[in-house]
Amino acid sequence: MVRSKRIALILEDDTTANRLTVQVLQPAGYQVERLRENAELKAQLQADLPNALIVDRSLSSKALRLLLREFPTLPLIYWTTQAQPDEVLNRYQEGFQAVLTAQEDQVQTLFVINRAVQRQEDWQKWVQLESTRHTQSLEKRVEDLERLHRIGGKISASLNLDQVLKEVVIAAVELTDAEEGNLMLLEQDNGNLILRAAHSVGEQKTNILRVPIYDTLLGEVIRTQRAVILESSELTKIQTAFLVRALIYVPLVMGEQSIGVLGVYNRQREQTFTNYHQMLLEALADYAAIAIQNAHYYTANERERHKLHTILTNVRDGVLVLDEEQRILLINATCLEAFGLNEPDCLGKPIENVISNQDLIFMLKRPASQWVKGGEIRLEDGRIWNCQLTPIEDVGLAVTMHDITYLKELDRVKSEFVSAVSHDLRSPLTAILGYTELIGRVGSLNERQQEFIRRVQASVQGITALISDLLDLGRIEAGLDAHKELIDLRPLLRQSVENFNSFLTEKGQKLQMDISSSIPLIWGNAVRLQQMIANLISNAIKYTPKEGKLGIRMWQEDSQLILQVWDSGVGIPPAEQPYIFDKFYRASNLPEDISGTGLGLTIVKSIVEDHQGRIWVESTLGEGTTFTIVLPAAEMETPQHPST
Ligand code: ADP
Repeated sequence: MVRSKRIALILEDDTTANRLTVQVLQPAGYQVERLRENAELKAQLQADLPNALIVDRSLSSKALRLLLREFPTLPLIYWTTQAQPDEVLNRYQEGFQAVLTAQEDQVQTLFVINRAVQRQEDWQKWVQLESTRHTQSLEKRVEDLERLHRIGGKISASLNLDQVLKEVVIAAVELTDAEEGNLMLLEQDNGNLILRAAHSVGEQKTNILRVPIYDTLLGEVIRTQRAVILESSELTKIQTAFLVRALIYVPLVMGEQSIGVLGVYNRQREQTFTNYHQMLLEALADYAAIAIQNAHYYTANERERHKLHTILTNVRDGVLVLDEEQRILLINATCLEAFGLNEPDCLGKPIENVISNQDLIFMLKRPASQWVKGGEIRLEDGRIWNCQLTPIEDVGLAVTMHDITYLKELDRVKSEFVSAVSHDLRSPLTAILGYTELIGRVGSLNERQQEFIRRVQASVQGITALISDLLDLGRIEAGLDAHKELIDLRPLLRQSVENFNSFLTEKGQKLQMDISSSIPLIWGNAVRLQQMIANLISNAIKYTPKEGKLGIRMWQEDSQLILQVWDSGVGIPPAEQPYIFDKFYRASNLPEDISGTGLGLTIVKSIVEDHQGRIWVESTLGEGTTFTIVLPAAEMETPQHPST
């Protein structure tokens, strides 16, 4: 149903209002409504805007301003009984669209009203058209921006550079409504631009593959890092045999450098490009530059990763990397071969589920307080590897393993040789010592001769001690002291301490014993265990100054017996601590008058290992040293050689 047009009246005189309504407006098909100037006027008009409003002088100027401001398309007609030309002019200046007087006849009055209503309709149509046009253009822009956004997303998600560049060019062509587009990248070595991606809507194909940039428009874009828009009604030759009517070139910039150009062209169509198109293209060029940078990083990263992988896979040493939960992150071929594993099977699995070598697992699973930087492990095939454990922040732990079987073998041969020679040296030394004692009996000696003989005897005793250490070591290493029995270490400890009482008194030292009440039995060789304790106590006494403190602690922890021998002596320089268990090694900080063979700790370590135990040292220079030995308790361990 077509709604009839409405005219609103704000007139003080009822007769005038009635006359207008009955004689002019209603016969012309208008609906008429009387309004008043009051607080609701604005709301009433907003709810249902009439096609025109006829007012008289009763309308205040404040209300007039409100109407003009809030309802600019509402035609306002001024009604007056009669008007001088001056007044008519004033009303027009105030913003009224027409002035009606009582003098006008009905036809004239209706004509004025109709014209005002018509004007309003024309305006409204125009406003509607304009807003549709703007909305369409805004919608197109929103679409363009969404397209840009989608491409941005794809770029960060894709590592396929060719595909990304192709997408950028297609988007460039479509967003600028061009016939064709391309993306060229600069070749570093010769300064040429080479085509990387192209797209065209029609039949035409860009044939350029490589363009020298000197003296070309492209060269200018590269040099100035500025976009260029070219438009002409004529065809312009921009390169040999490449004619265009309009184009945009925008540079691809990475850091400070131009790396290429993104271009769109119209060769047939006369349509030109705008700044808006340039802005879109610049955004696309930025995306392309980011994609290229990503690809560079990725390739560099991949190359490094590949290099590292090749190195790790091919090194002859074993390499194993564990995460913080000790799951396998990386394992190289040497390790796989040594533990008889298959790489894909073991990656990501906990180490203890994959590798059965107990030496290695024991080393890795030690509680934090007993953590070691490395040690030796024996493989099933008899090879011996030296393992180094290196914690890596935010990754876990790297284990590097080096085959030292040949060193061990050399060591064994050397020990055998030393044992044999030592044995043969013993008898002549005993003879020398015997004869030096006899010299005094066959004639009197002066003081200097006696002094010389004392020195000979001291030296021979030194050599004899050395030889007996060497022979002990030889026996232990050769496994000749295999006899083991259930042993309570407490009486052995007490016996050893007693043996050193005279030395302790001589140096005024105090030895503190902290032995826990429940100590497990262990499977062991009594003579060797006593030797182990004696060597440690003797060192503690030797390397602690007079009046110093030393002590022994012993307790049980789970199925292990822990023995500590500590002192408040000279300590061991940190850099030398890894070597003190080596044969003949004596630290550099020892007072000159303290003699020794450098074999005591080697013997201790051999005995500990012969009892499936571990030993380590903690020492602070000038403050003291603590040796800790962990031995397995007999209750938990099946003896290896219980009765041999
Ligand atoms: P040595 O016969 O020299 O005592 P050891 O093999 O028993 O040989 O010890 C090797 C080296 O370790 C010693 O020379 C000394 O430098 C160092 N060392 C051993 N025990 C202690 C200790 N309790 N305090 C300080 N240094 C020690």
